[in-house]
Amino acid sequence: MSGNNNISSPARTKEIIQRYGFSFKKSLGQNFLIDQNILDKIVDAAGLDQAAGALEIGPGIGALTERLAAAAGAVTAVEIDRRLIPILRDVLAAYPHVKIRNDDVLKVNLRELFAEDFAAVERVSVVANLPYYVTTPILMKLLEEKLPLDNIVVMIQKEVAERMAASPGGKEYGSLSIAVQYYSEPELVCIVPRTVFIPQPNVESAVIRLKVRERPPVEVADEKHFFEVVQASFTQRRKTIANNLKARFFPEEGRERLESLLAEAEIEPSRRGETLSLAEYARLSAVLLAAGIV
Ligand code: SAM
Repeated sequence: MSGNNNISSPARTKEIIQRYGFSFKKSLGQNFLIDQNILDKIVDAAGLDQAAGALEIGPGIGALTERLAAAAGAVTAVEIDRRLIPILRDVLAAYPHVKIRNDDVLKVNLRELFAEDFAAVERVSVVANLPYYVTTPILMKLLEEKLPLDNIVVMIQKEVAERMAASPGGKEYGSLSIAVQYYSEPELVCIVPRTVFIPQPNVESAVIRLKVRERPPVEVADEKHFFEVVQASFTQRRKTIANNLKARFFPEEGRERLESLLAEAEIEPSRRGETLSLAEYARLSAVLLAAGIV
């Protein structure tokens, strides 16, 4: 969609804000998008069509919602701020296939929401300009609940996007990279300057696309244990894997047993957690589990 009367045009955004006497709440991460090109990039990355549904988290005054309405067969937008609901109902009145829900996305039963709102579509994407103060909890909820999702395309803090997409060996790689890559294939879509928002955030942003995996890329018998081993390995980034694991799993023992288990998993005790791949963490978790180390 093009033209200057889109909700996201700076003039229309200002007009809506004034007409409804809306004031931004920093505590809710309210930075609204006013750039048509960025909106196009976000929507294009999701690969929507009339057989697809879109779940938007935090629609604000509807800049992205309007684009999603044009691209998808069903749109649900979950907005926590009650003051925005009448505005959204008004500005999106022309789109009967858009449903606005006033809720905190972290408290919503998403399985029920999917069953109610997306029964008629073949697949669903999450598409959002996320509130930065809750980016990670929102994304982990979407991924861990194993919802029937095709992909997740979100604007987030650039630094968080880089951590999610990082490969082993670098300083950005950590437990967040591993968790996100266990459930999805991340891909950076673009870096976004502060100037495309009002008000402007304090940090740079990026659009990231998470292609949700049908099954994890490695075999893990006990996911809780796997993620505990990962967490433990990054407790103190500068310490070796052996020292971090010893502190968490073998506080009272000598190093012999731990070193023989690491050898069984084919991992050098002097390595650091940030150098281990997903497959190596899976192997390590399996060896520890088989030895009853939980
Ligand atoms: N989508 C709009 C845009 O791009 O212009 C607004 C994006 S703004 C960065 C984030 C939005 O998320 C705000 O409208 C805010 O009120 C909403 N929000 C914050 N926390 C939320 C939560 N827990 N659940 C649902 N919406 C939330």
